Amino acid sequence: MTTFSGVGIGRGIAQGPVARMAPPAPPPSRLAAHLAPAEELELALTALTGVSADLIARAERTDGTAQAVLLAQAEMAEDPEVRSLIEQLTDQGCNAAWAVYAAFSHFGDSMIAAGGFHAERAADLKDVAARAVAHIEGQPTPGAPDPGHPYVLVARDLAPADTALLDLSQVLAIVTEEGGPTSHTAILAREMGIVAVLGVGDFGLTPASAADPFDAGGTPAVRDGQVVIVDAAAGTVVVDPTAEALAAAAAQQEALAEEEKAGGGSRNWGRLADGTRIPLLANLGSSAGADEARALGAEGVGLFRTEFLFLDAAVAPSIDTQWQEYTRLLSVFSGRKVVARVLDAGADKPLAFMNPDDEPNPALGLRGIRALRAHEDVLRTQLQALSEAADATSADLWVMAPMVTDAAEAAYFKAICTEYGLPRAGVMIEIPAAALLAESVLAECDFVSVGTNDLAQYTLAADRLLGTKAYLQDPWHPAVLRLIALAGAAGLRVGKDVGVCGEAAADPRLAVVLVGLGATSLSMAPPALQDVRAELSKYSREQAKAAADAALAASSAVAARAAACAVLTASSAAVGAVPAR
Ligand code: PEP
Ligand code: MG
Repeated sequence: MTTFSGVGIGRGIAQGPVARMAPPAPPPSRLAAHLAPAEELELALTALTGVSADLIARAERTDGTAQAVLLAQAEMAEDPEVRSLIEQLTDQGCNAAWAVYAAFSHFGDSMIAAGGFHAERAADLKDVAARAVAHIEGQPTPGAPDPGHPYVLVARDLAPADTALLDLSQVLAIVTEEGGPTSHTAILAREMGIVAVLGVGDFGLTPASAADPFDAGGTPAVRDGQVVIVDAAAGTVVVDPTAEALAAAAAQQEALAEEEKAGGGSRNWGRLADGTRIPLLANLGSSAGADEARALGAEGVGLFRTEFLFLDAAVAPSIDTQWQEYTRLLSVFSGRKVVARVLDAGADKPLAFMNPDDEPNPALGLRGIRALRAHEDVLRTQLQALSEAADATSADLWVMAPMVTDAAEAAYFKAICTEYGLPRAGVMIEIPAAALLAESVLAECDFVSVGTNDLAQYTLAADRLLGTKAYLQDPWHPAVLRLIALAGAAGLRVGKDVGVCGEAAADPRLAVVLVGLGATSLSMAPPALQDVRAELSKYSREQAKAAADAALAASSAVAARAAACAVLTASSAAVGAVPAR
């Protein structure tokens, strides 16, 4: 029995035999064309049209984020600029497969160079190219295996098209070598409710050799057919488990199913077993997901990422465009709290009209409140639109500034919000300095919300966009937890709200620990609400604090998670699961 650790998504547990996904095929060879340029071009374009049609057909069989991702990929296959570069390459005597590969690599490299949101989409482009090359070379379309029985899918990483169309009656769980908590695979797995542990590191999916497409020498950690237990709550994959471990996992699976029936229903408010209210809110990037968030039990919105609306805009959005979007969202949440974050431009979310494109290190540059101060007209327009939308609806609007460093920036934001008649103005705690100075920051504004994605990135000096650094971007790290504890304690002293709106809040056991550290509300991707609600309902504040203390005393993320989970498991064994009220 061997145990691997990674980033768990949700709190499910599954067991079953492994089926490995073949690693991506090596790049096509750059042999001269066999056919005339026009025929090679025809071959390439026919393949791309086929790929686009296939992606559209797959999109029609799904919905939500998965559908949007697949349709975006279908558009990439039809892109006229890519097609024109392919034509130039075939005219120069390249074969169809190489021309497709080279053209998509060219555009993929520019997206990586553009950084942030664009760089994350480069993987989608690469996947379109791999599909088209397989088509040209008469190879099967890359994708999930089909062993003919339910299985645990093990892959180096998964393309969105693969994840979106997994047959959920066959796939028991997903394990990937790469990919972090904010990757497409994580987002889709969360939305689809698939048990997943990502970023486990080297699991034996080494480059192809003739004998075994997976192994190029060395012993892989796992082979097809080997039984594993995938425990998302613990973030572990156990290979060759003992009979006792299998029985315990099966019991845990059953208990989770029971609990969901009993206490996790979306009609219940978020609260601890002792009755302490912990509002559970939604993270949204546009008003489009608002109705679904309500249906999934969101009590309000804890983070409305307004910059997601304008990622492709060349100029600042008009007050009317903004007013319409904000009014749509606020109308769905009448009478409820909605925290709108003003534009967080820069780094992973670059906005052409606000960010310079020559910063050597955008994550440490003109980002968040810094960029807004440099473009105060943009901030003023946004606050005006938010204020008018609040007046036109009956939602309880709170506004929040991103990437704040200290009290002076908090005071600047609070003062400007007051000018626009916005009574509730707060800031995000994403920079370690702001956590260390939380009490003075809170003295200048009405609330704080901890952004654990950036707080982990800046505390651990690990770029949140680099899948290869996923093992470091772990909000369970005690260094991150200690900073959150400082913010929680400051909030308690001054009697102001300390929310958490990073991905950490979507991890059910970490959610309990965050409450133990002093979080007063949690905001997350709506599909995570039910699991978090059910988990919170099992523990009292004292038990959450005990789990938090155990995690704070650990010296690594893995140890912190194990220590907190041990305390929580012992607590629930002592009192039994308490259904949510
Ligand atoms: C965060 O950093 O945790 C956060 C919620 O903000 P974003 O992910 O949008 O940067
Ligand atoms: Mg952030």
